[in-house]
Amino acid sequence: MESVGCLDTVLLKTASRCNFDCTYCYVYQGPDQSWRNQPKRMRRDLLTTVQERLNEQANHQQRGFAIVLHGGEPLLLGFDELARLLRGLRVNLSPKSHPISIQTNGSLLSERWLDLFHETKTSVSVSIDGPPEANDIARISHRGESTFLSTLRGIRLLSSHPESAFLFAGTLSVIQPSVEPGLVYNFLKGIKTPSMDFLMQDGNHDHLPAGKSRFDSTEYGDWLIELFDIYFDDPFPVRIRFFDDLLKLCLGGKGRKEGMGDDQYGILTIETNGEIRKNDTLRTSYEGADQFRRTRNITDTSIHEILSSEEYLDYAGMQLPISSRCKECSLLPICGGGMPLYRWSKERGYDNPSVYCHDHYRLIRHALERVREFGIDHPSS
Ligand code: SF4
Repeated sequence: MESVGCLDTVLLKTASRCNFDCTYCYVYQGPDQSWRNQPKRMRRDLLTTVQERLNEQANHQQRGFAIVLHGGEPLLLGFDELARLLRGLRVNLSPKSHPISIQTNGSLLSERWLDLFHETKTSVSVSIDGPPEANDIARISHRGESTFLSTLRGIRLLSSHPESAFLFAGTLSVIQPSVEPGLVYNFLKGIKTPSMDFLMQDGNHDHLPAGKSRFDSTEYGDWLIELFDIYFDDPFPVRIRFFDDLLKLCLGGKGRKEGMGDDQYGILTIETNGEIRKNDTLRTSYEGADQFRRTRNITDTSIHEILSSEEYLDYAGMQLPISSRCKECSLLPICGGGMPLYRWSKERGYDNPSVYCHDHYRLIRHALERVREFGIDHPSS
């Protein structure tokens, strides 16, 4: 995949605050508190500059790129400003080459928003961790109350919209290993999500992810194996992107996501003050881990300039693991060593296998065995 020096995904922080106060949030609860210095919303002149910079980049590279509106809660930008941004982006960037999507907690959605998203061909993915017993563990309001019903209301609006086949991209759930995977899968299927995606909890070798007891324990691997079997054996499955990528890789194909397989992805973040940063999930390692050495802002630097810099190439190269354990691992072409944030330790930097190494290993071995039931082996085995 042509990736280094090429933009694959830009995360656009249209608002730096959130109307929820999820206890696991890497933006507000992590070691990097730089969100406090960010303007709450992106200013109108910066929104115009973002459009110009993205148009400029679209002219620079042949391949399209995805634009993901992120926060905080991206809808906190406000309707008029977001409408101006989305309509402005769509003047030159077509939905086919430049998909635009929003990652939202769903609570602020209304018919008006959905009509705007339909008009501007913007798809919506909603964060929800499953039924209340899973969702209420971390996804709470600033008053410490459950946010479940407000998210569910948004999902119902989305799934009942006449254009929901395009608009509703799916759900994104953080794994709560204490809740049975079958409960989560059946719940998400029941609310008619067209696609599920799952994320491991944030963590690294210094701060183990919630629900993981040791580096060599496999709570997440066991949970994912159970979910994998439910999915694999379901005669009418709802797509799980994480597993589809895994299966493609098990069959010798390519994944489509950072942290799996051995391709590199060009990911940049634009903050509400216009600052351009690396993938913002890196900030879970330490304060400033997602910043370039010299602060770059869209007002004075083009995206192309960043992508051509040595520092960017070093950052993109980080996606390939450097630990000797990963380099010697037979599963590396499938596993990819996990996302860089999971490899961090103060002592060795990113020179570690993923903190989820044993979970990945168990899951991948299991997936390969299930695929083998159909007489198919990974090409390298
Ligand atoms: S299974 Fe572990 S050692 Fe193998 S590539 Fe993945 S993280 Fe590295």
